[in-house]
Amino acid sequence: MEYLARCHCKRVHFSFRSTEITAGKRCNCSLCIRRGAVLSPTYIPDADFTPHADESDLAVYLWNDEVIRHYFCKTCGIYTYGVVTGEDGKDRYRVNLGCVEGLDTLALDITIVDGKALPLADAS
Ligand SMILES: [Zn+2]
Repeated sequence: MEYLARCHCKRVHFSFRSTEITAGKRCNCSLCIRRGAVLSPTYIPDADFTPHADESDLAVYLWNDEVIRHYFCKTCGIYTYGVVTGEDGKDRYRVNLGCVEGLDTLALDITIVDGKALPLADAS
């Protein structure tokens, strides 16, 4: 399926292809517990992902070991997606499912990721 997504103020747009999304993940690490987003259950490969065209609309937050680039809208502050570059040099995206048009995140099958238990993830 093709999913369209945007931030709250509609400045940031992105889209991706995926099997039908019926599940999401939440995480208890020091970042996720604060932003409260429901995340895509898997990382989406860059071949299936179209990021926002104008990176100047986005701010990026790096923390911890700075492996994941957390992008959010400079105007409305909404977290949109995180990007990690694999060992193969290709990007993978994890999406804030709350940005996806037509998707009810409260109806998804939610799995909790115990990010707090990962030694690097709680270095706030
Ligand atoms: Zn925005």
